[in-house]
Formats: sequence, C-alpha cells, structure tokens
Amino acid sequence: MLNIVLFGPPGAGKGTQATRLVEKYQLVHLSTGDIFRANIKGETELGKLAKQYIDKGELVPDEVTIGMLESEVQKTEHSKGFIFDGFPRTTFQAEALEKFLAKMQTEITVMLALDVNDDELVKRILLRSKDSGRADDADESIIRNRIEVYNKHTAVVADFYEAKNKFKKIDGMGSIDEISERLYKAIEA
Ligand code: ADP
Repeated sequence: MLNIVLFGPPGAGKGTQATRLVEKYQLVHLSTGDIFRANIKGETELGKLAKQYIDKGELVPDEVTIGMLESEVQKTEHSKGFIFDGFPRTTFQAEALEKFLAKMQTEITVMLALDVNDDELVKRILLRSKDSGRADDADESIIRNRIEVYNKHTAVVADFYEAKNKFKKIDGMGSIDEISERLYKAIEA
C-alpha cells in the first residue's frame, strides 16, 4: 500500500493537492476536517461536539478524532492506500495511527509536508472563505489561532516521522501545478 500523510499548516493546500494525488495514485482520501464538517452538517452527536472546538480554531480531543478516523479506515474495503489529510495533528494521534495500521499489516509510507509562510497562509484562507462558507476561515483571529495551535501541537508530529526517516519537506509556494509536480517527484523517488 501507499499510505501518505499530507502535512502542513492550515491553508497550506493539503485538500487541493490531496484531490490530485487521489486521482493519480488511486488512493482513498481521509480528511478529518471534511469528515467533521459532514457531521456538523448532518447534525450528528459527533458534529455537535466537534463544532464547539472547530469554531474556536481549537483541536477536537484526541479520543474523539482517533475513534472517528479508525472507523473510517475500517469502513474502506479495498484500496491501494490512503491519504491522511489533517491527521495526525498530535504525536498521540501519530502513535494511534501507527498502531491501527499495524493491525492491518500496513504502515505510513511517507509524510509529505507542505511548507508555506504564515502571511501566505492567512491570505489563502481568507480568499478561500469567500466560497468555503467556513466560519473558521472568515475571521483572521481564528485563523491566527489555528496557526498557533499548529505551531504548538502539530508541527512536532514531523519529528515523529523524521525519526523514522519518512519525512519529506515540499515547497508549498508557487502554482498548484508546480506543487503537484514536486509531490509526484517525492512520491516516486
Ligand atoms: P485546516 O487544516 O485548513 O485548518 P481542516 O479542515 O483540516 O482545516 O480542519 C478544520 C478543523 O477541524 C481544525 O481547526 C480542528 O478544529 C478540527 N480538526 C481537523 N483534524 C483534526 C485532528 N486530527 N485533530 C483534532 N482536530 C482536528
């Protein structure tokens, strides 16, 4: 299997690039943000709980997020692999992911980390807010909080994969096509 963790701060372009990677390599895309938003829209219990955190730009608690992701992975019958987008966001989540992939006799192949500077992130998210309808995209202080949460809790997840020699940093500045090409090269290297 080809199992990719697509990593990077909010607004780095994970969702956009994941769509392309899914097509090119026939992978299953699991975006925790998208799954939470679908639950919020469907007004499920999970959605109601997650909304309280997401609207503030905070992380949804690990137990909730991990349980949800594991059940999504188990729902998938045949796949050539997964793209994890927005997960893991804490070292605890990374450890949990490793354990449940091991149960399926597989593992993460590579973490691809999109590198984009903070000002560009805020610019991209505010632009996206015009169509995304996401409350957490429309307010600059919430965006800044998400970036802060990323720096404080999520950036360290890179060290987890670095220690296993699975970390690859990808320049996330430039056109969507340029960045896709960099990702393809890194995957095929
Ligand atoms: P972005 O990366 O652009 O901020 P996402 O769609 O990935 O957006 O996530 C939106 C929100 O969903 C996050 O700010 C967070 O509140 C919640 N979330 C998503 N993934 C996780 C996760 N793995 N752990 C905890 N919370 C998460």
